[in-house]
This record gives sequence, structure tokens and C-alpha cells, in this order.
Amino acid sequence: MIGILKGMATTMKHALDGKTFTVEYPETAPEVSPRFRGVHKYSQERCIWCRQCENVCPNDTIQIVQDDQRNGEQYNLHVGQCIYCRLCEEVCPTDAIVLTQNFEFVGDTKDDLAYNKEELKNVPWYKDIDPLESREPDRGSWVGEGEGEVDYQ
Ligand code: SF4
Ligand code: SF4
Repeated sequence: MIGILKGMATTMKHALDGKTFTVEYPETAPEVSPRFRGVHKYSQERCIWCRQCENVCPNDTIQIVQDDQRNGEQYNLHVGQCIYCRLCEEVCPTDAIVLTQNFEFVGDTKDDLAYNKEELKNVPWYKDIDPLESREPDRGSWVGEGEGEVDYQ
């Protein structure tokens, strides 16, 4: 009984203190945690086609295509399969992948969210994400920050 009363007191305290923890999305954009992991950006300019991201991805979200000389030909991203674990970003030796804080995208089917590197440049919700602005702020391993244009898809 005392436990129930304590629980009710806590509930009433929070109900009456005027604080809200929800927002009316999409009219109001929620503030996500600095460590939030959203869709990732890929840079062909930085990629050395080592395939580590493809190998580490637990969900076949990334597919790297190479020719018979092991030259990189294509980078396919199946965003609908991503579980935002960030393993690809951590393993990438050149920071060619960076998870951003963007989560606002939709598709009718999972296949609607599969793109190659050329298509990524034209996806409306993807192409305008600035990876430098939207990356996790406390990352210190950024390569080449502030040194000119960064070509991310
Ligand atoms: S965040 Fe995880 S699931 Fe998503 S592409 Fe990277 S390794 Fe794969
Ligand atoms: S780990 Fe980085 S450099 Fe290697 S293939 Fe993936 S994106 Fe390219």
C-alpha cells in the first residue's frame, strides 16, 4: 500500500510540475541526444574500397562492388536495413562513413530505401544532410576537418 502511494505521489509530482517530455512532431523537431545515431553519409572521395564496412555490418546494409582488379565500382546502401550500430563508421579507416543525427526519411517498402552512390546524391532527404554539422559532436577522430570541401554523397 505504501509503495502504491509513493508511486502515485511521484506521478502527481511530475504531472503538476509543468514539464513536458514530448513534442508535437513533425511541427516541432525533437532534440536528439548528441550520441544519437541516424542515417550515415558516405564519401566516395575518401573511400579506399577496403570493404571493412561491408564485412563488419551485421545486417548487409552496405554492399561494395569491385572489378576483377579489386578496384571499387559501386557502393550500395540499403538504408532500410540499417540498425544504426555504427560499426561501419568505427571500422572505416578514412572516415568515409559518418553517422549523422538525421532520422527523417520514409519509404513504402524496404526496397525504396536502397540506393547506389550515384542515386544517393539525388535523394532529397539525404543529399542535403551536412555530415560535418550533424555528426556526433564529441567525435575527435575526424580526418581533415576544416580543410576545404568534403565530398559526401
Ligand atoms: S550502422 Fe551498423 S547496420 Fe548500419 S550500415 Fe553501419 S554497420 Fe551496418
Ligand atoms: S570501410 Fe570506409 S574506406 Fe573501407 S570500403 Fe567502407 S567506406 Fe570505403
